Amino acid sequence: MGQAQVKQQPPKKRVLVVGAGAAGIACAWSLSRFPERFEVEVWEALSVPGGVASSHTVKDGQHVINDQVQGGAPSYRHNLRLLEMFGFKPTPVMMRIAFGVGRLQWTNHSPSELTALLQPEIARFGRVLTWIKRLEPLFVFVPIDRVLRLLRFSDEFRYQMVFPLVALFFGTGNQTPHVAAAVIARVFLDPDLRLFDYCPQRLLNSVPEMFAFPVLEEVWTTIARKSNFKLCCDRPLAKLVRQYAPPSGGSGSAAILATDAAGVSAAFDEVVFACDAETVLRTMANPTWLERRLLRNVRYYTDFCLTHEDHGYMARMYDIRPEQRDNYFVRTYPGRDRDKIEMSFNLSTYQPHLKVSMCAAGLDIYQTYYLDAKLRHLWSDSQVGPSKVLASRWMRQFAHTWTHFAFWVPWVRFIQGTKHTWYCGSYTMVNTQEIAVMSGLAAALRLGADYPFPDDPLAVKQFDTYLGVVHGVRGAGKPTTTMTTTRVSAPAFK
Ligand SMILES: Cc1cc2nc3c(=O)[nH]c(=O)nc-3n(C[C@H](O)[C@H](O)[C@H](O)COP(=O)(O)OP(=O)(O)OC[C@H]3O[C@@H](n4cnc5c(N)ncnc54)[C@H](O)[C@@H]3O)c2cc1C
Repeated sequence: MGQAQVKQQPPKKRVLVVGAGAAGIACAWSLSRFPERFEVEVWEALSVPGGVASSHTVKDGQHVINDQVQGGAPSYRHNLRLLEMFGFKPTPVMMRIAFGVGRLQWTNHSPSELTALLQPEIARFGRVLTWIKRLEPLFVFVPIDRVLRLLRFSDEFRYQMVFPLVALFFGTGNQTPHVAAAVIARVFLDPDLRLFDYCPQRLLNSVPEMFAFPVLEEVWTTIARKSNFKLCCDRPLAKLVRQYAPPSGGSGSAAILATDAAGVSAAFDEVVFACDAETVLRTMANPTWLERRLLRNVRYYTDFCLTHEDHGYMARMYDIRPEQRDNYFVRTYPGRDRDKIEMSFNLSTYQPHLKVSMCAAGLDIYQTYYLDAKLRHLWSDSQVGPSKVLASRWMRQFAHTWTHFAFWVPWVRFIQGTKHTWYCGSYTMVNTQEIAVMSGLAAALRLGADYPFPDDPLAVKQFDTYLGVVHGVRGAGKPTTTMTTTRVSAPAFK
């Protein structure tokens, strides 16, 4: 061969993705677009992919429901592009919400006694939000409840209007009073994030168009089937050892040894954790001091969900007006627990496949969420007629308290890539489906898979924000083959 310069292809990276939720599937799909660079395996603990974005059959298998994640906003560019690529169509949904009961009832579509009474506070809240947004880096560290109390907003405005609204749309549950004020300002004012336009008269006065996902299990299984990665369901990761030296004679420079619950091991070059932080801490054999310290800052709560057909329960607990066809219902508990909420929604007004079949039959399928198992004494799940229950599910959800944004989100970047380990999932920032998908694409980008949607300006903008905050780099839309990601110096919430 003499001096001939034969350009050697770098060896393929063997990548393990732990978890086949939206983040894990997005990461695996993005990597799998470059089969010459990556060999990708996804281990999923459950028997189907999707994680929280899951489907379930009810009524003796007659109906398939999306039983956790339901839909998103038109700004969910990454989800929408991914659906489109695999031939799926989202369905438009007009978002109608009914908060509170009786005198405390208000909606996003009709005037009410409560909004008329609280109008001066609603107008003042708009001005306060503008200031919070201007001083955003400061208000990342201040819980919204502290700000509103300090500025003497009434209990009714805080507990009946602001907290239930934010709890519903950002999945912040009973921790909403402790959510960073900066995040709340974003919910209302960020043109790319906000779901509703702020209204100085009624807080909300529009019925925004959102979209409902198609049957999610079909989405994930189709992506897995048509992509070039190996999906291993029913294969929970039990232990992960890094800096593993392969036995002499073993191949390559494997850095990672993963062992599943059945005790079967496999070696990889890189691992992407697309599961929850608790699982990372439980399975990782040798976390560094910083990894342990930071991952512990993600706090989880246990919630419970009942899928049911008990219209009587809904009529007793919420202000149900059948002619309004509201999708969501939120109520606060009475008395001293008025900062705690219960949420329900009518799946039959939301999911396209149910809308047709159930409305024709005059039936409604509801879901009610009972938040934080430590508050179980407040729950009214026992009042749902047992014969009307179609399914039940326990869930672990992370909290969006201000500590999440002060002690976890801006610091994740410092453990990304440590010992060939990467982190994605909605818990790396905010609990939305769009963040989950973006986070998977970001981990793939860091491993060397080009960003897939450089032609979509809004997608690029959002992705760059995520990349800046959670990875400390910028570079969406630029090919990674030339390694054009550049490091940024400080947490950027913009
Ligand atoms: C009830 C509910 C409803 C929601 N609805 C919406 C909505 O309508 N719109 C929206 O935008 N957002 C919604 N969200 C937010 C939601 O969390 C995100 O949309 C997103 O689906 C989270 O995806 P993820 O991949 O980060 O995590 P997950 O979906 O939790 O995926 C993590 C995966 O890791 C797997 N795993 C765990 N341990 C192991 C192990 N040891 N080995 C292998 N695999 C493991 C899990 O089984 C799971 O599949 C909702 C959240 C909840 C809880």
